[in-house]
Amino acid sequence: MLIMTSQWLIGLVYVLAAFLLIFGLWRMSSPVTASGGIHVAGWGMGAAVIVSFLYVLTVSEAARPHLPVNVSLALLALLLGGGAAWWSGRKAAMTAMPQMVALYNGMGGGAAAAIAAMELFGGRVVDLAALAGTLLGALIGAVSLSGSLIAWAKLDGRLNKPLRLKGLQLINALLMLVTLGAGAWLMIALQAADGASGQLLGLIAVFFGCALLFGVLMTLPIGGADMPVVISIYNAFTGLAVGLEGFVLQVPAMMIAGMLVGAAGVLLTLLMAKAMNRSVAHVLFARFGDQPTRKGAAIVGELKPTAASDAGVAMRYANTVIIVPGYGLAVAQGQQKLYELVKLLQAHGVLVRFAVHPVAGRMPGQMDVLLAEAGVPYDLIFQLDDINTDFPSTDMVLVIGANDVVNPAARTDKASPIYGMPILDVDKAHHVYVVKRGEGKGYAGIQNPLFYAENCNMVYGDAQAVLVKMIEAVRGLG
Ligand code: NDP
Repeated sequence: MLIMTSQWLIGLVYVLAAFLLIFGLWRMSSPVTASGGIHVAGWGMGAAVIVSFLYVLTVSEAARPHLPVNVSLALLALLLGGGAAWWSGRKAAMTAMPQMVALYNGMGGGAAAAIAAMELFGGRVVDLAALAGTLLGALIGAVSLSGSLIAWAKLDGRLNKPLRLKGLQLINALLMLVTLGAGAWLMIALQAADGASGQLLGLIAVFFGCALLFGVLMTLPIGGADMPVVISIYNAFTGLAVGLEGFVLQVPAMMIAGMLVGAAGVLLTLLMAKAMNRSVAHVLFARFGDQPTRKGAAIVGELKPTAASDAGVAMRYANTVIIVPGYGLAVAQGQQKLYELVKLLQAHGVLVRFAVHPVAGRMPGQMDVLLAEAGVPYDLIFQLDDINTDFPSTDMVLVIGANDVVNPAARTDKASPIYGMPILDVDKAHHVYVVKRGEGKGYAGIQNPLFYAENCNMVYGDAQAVLVKMIEAVRGLG
């Protein structure tokens, strides 16, 4: 009776958790409701974690002696993992969020692979469908773990240059073949041995080793501006891996959470690939054999620095201004000052709008979140497709901390690593002011001909400090 009531209660809480996760994800689809959505999904995850401890009420007599050790280990893992996440979440700067997300994503894939490893080493999976699910989840989870770690190192600036070796394409193809071969062999052997994995430890280790190495080698050559696609594809991988392991363990919360993350990750991957005008296959595989020798076309013109106050005054007398925020705005944490400047300009009758590129910043949606945090009304924020044709009729553009997303080389220079990526056509506006600290390059590491164009002035300085000067200049006009 107690077991039946407990199972009923566990099922009910899992349904509630699934509802909260789906509702939270739905709210995350808009920057206006995203922060509330994260809390709702957090409650859902909390409920799923707590209810998983209720399994103690449902275990068989034979398993009861193991309960104290197992529950203590689970509590210890929860304490250590939760504590580390709490500490690092509070400590990490806003600009370090993308690499933190990559790291946590890798942890999710690693957790799925670890569950699969335990099941395989313990010889608990014998059914063919379950074995296939375990091995597929293990493969995807392991690739996501090692690939996300490389993505973390790239986003954190620890790995600055993409590694491109001749023959890497072949090595990766062979590595995948060996991994799949080891997986197929394991499936047959584990089934024949009825789960007894003692003789197969070496083969299991080869399978995981190759999958991990594949993730590393697949991610190392990807650089330039293609990282958004990589981040979202690993997101999808982790979700799929967790969902598959949930299916093997028959844990509904894992299945639902995994499938939600997997589906969201797939959609995000397609959106990012569209934003970059690349196919996912191109991002993942086209660079395997490349040599990093490509140089951009020679740049004509000169840089023309101007004072922040002059740029501020000029915008005050413009009719239309479009602001393009980029990664540097997040670094400078200048979003509040930016909105203060916008309100001043609006008070003087200037029509001000924001143009956001889908891959601006270091995380999908980072600019939308940044502007929402400063209280910028959502109807002032326009995405690339909705505003790009307006640049030729715009008086002034303020590019603040952005670089790659406004680089016209993407349109014209076939040798450029960002060639083909749709950019914000700010160079077509009547006049452009670019705010940045110096002559630093963007994430793709290439020169930007926009800065040398006739209609462009550079305003050097930290974005927040420059904005303060612009605000003072506009206020000074009365
Ligand atoms: P970029 O990285 O191209 O350029 C940012 C610019 O900001 C730099 O040139 C830098 O120049 C300037 N900058 C840095 N700090 C400051 C500061 N404190 N004040 C003022 N300026 C500053 O940014 P974009 O947003 O234009 O493009 C994003 C790039 O990141 C794309 O290549 C994209 O593919 C890539 N990426 C995007 C991801 C995503 O999901 N959105 C994920 C991973 C990569 P200086 O040093 O001279 O100040």
